[in-house]
Amino acid sequence: MSSKSYSIASIPADGIGPEVVEAGITALNALADTLKTFKLEFTNYDWSSETYKKTGKYIPDGGLDSLKQHDAILFGAVGAPDVPDHISLWGLRLAICQPFQQYANVRPTKVFRGTQSPLRNCKTGDLDWVIIRENSEGEYAGQGGRSHTGKPWEVATETAIFSRVGVERIMRFAFEVAQKRPRKLLTVVTKSNAQRNGMVLWDEVAKAVAKDFPDVTVDKMLVDAMTTRMVLKPETIDTIVATNLHADILSDLAAALAGSIGIAPTSNLDPTRQNPSMFEPIHGSAFDITGKGIANPVATFWTAAEMLEWLGEADASKKLLTAVENVCEAGVLTADLGGKANTKEVTNAVVAEIKKLYG
Ligand code: ATP
Repeated sequence: MSSKSYSIASIPADGIGPEVVEAGITALNALADTLKTFKLEFTNYDWSSETYKKTGKYIPDGGLDSLKQHDAILFGAVGAPDVPDHISLWGLRLAICQPFQQYANVRPTKVFRGTQSPLRNCKTGDLDWVIIRENSEGEYAGQGGRSHTGKPWEVATETAIFSRVGVERIMRFAFEVAQKRPRKLLTVVTKSNAQRNGMVLWDEVAKAVAKDFPDVTVDKMLVDAMTTRMVLKPETIDTIVATNLHADILSDLAAALAGSIGIAPTSNLDPTRQNPSMFEPIHGSAFDITGKGIANPVATFWTAAEMLEWLGEADASKKLLTAVENVCEAGVLTADLGGKANTKEVTNAVVAEIKKLYG
């Protein structure tokens, strides 16, 4: 039996981040202890909005060099009521994703056994999607500026950047993901009717890359029409590729349609593996429930499973997700999914299920 050891950086950061990351580490440790096929070693980084308020920096000097030494990063959430969102996002999350070239953001969504979609006729299996979000440029490239600040004639620009290299690499990645899934169906989402430069480049690159994947069926949707299709015909969708902004919006909708934003994970991947990839729940800091111990840890469990798969532990990944889904099916659910359990109770139930199934 192999016993590979992985070094994981944990960055719980803000809001419910520390609560769900603690739950994720508990489940991962229980899995590693039970299966005994791999080892995990966690290093905690206390980078957060509190650190920023004390020191003026989210990431200390040399911080990224330390982070780069790890095999993967488990992230919580960033954002504080008294720090503007664009400061916190650019100070921590994007300050890791962009220099580490985690250009592929993967966001799977499905209706778990034992949970319900708010869509009346949507059953488990009808909604099972993976959204691939371009994660390095596009609308979040940081290009733009403000002139005449505060004056009535103030001007601001926010320029989306689409490079052929950037579009082609995410397109290839998306085709590869679609190809590995049973339906081999990829929907390319753009807004190339109104946005006639960058979005037309997306369409052209998609068409060219498609030639290398003849077994993948491709269809094309405008982003506005895509929202309608997600609600009305969820069963017609499988893998979706879209820009940084479009996919960000679509994936929140996807998570809500699957039952709750508290279950969906997101992986920020550097497919070249030159840098560690980062795994996090899709939700944010959720200040309205911070400190109450009621945050749904399922998104963090699922992202932990995605992390294991990325590290090469596909079997352990599947086993973790099976245990989590069994717990959902048994009705141990947090309030966002209509249940009464708290974070600890769900976590304990997952640990018990891991021991029962694999001990
Ligand atoms: P951000 O701007 O960082 O994305 P946000 O405040 O816009 O954050 P979330 O933090 O994701 O969005 O919260 C949106 C809503 O979903 C809130 O009402 C929050 O309580 C709820 N929510 C988010 N995550 C969870 C979770 N893990 N468990 C239960 N409820 C959650």
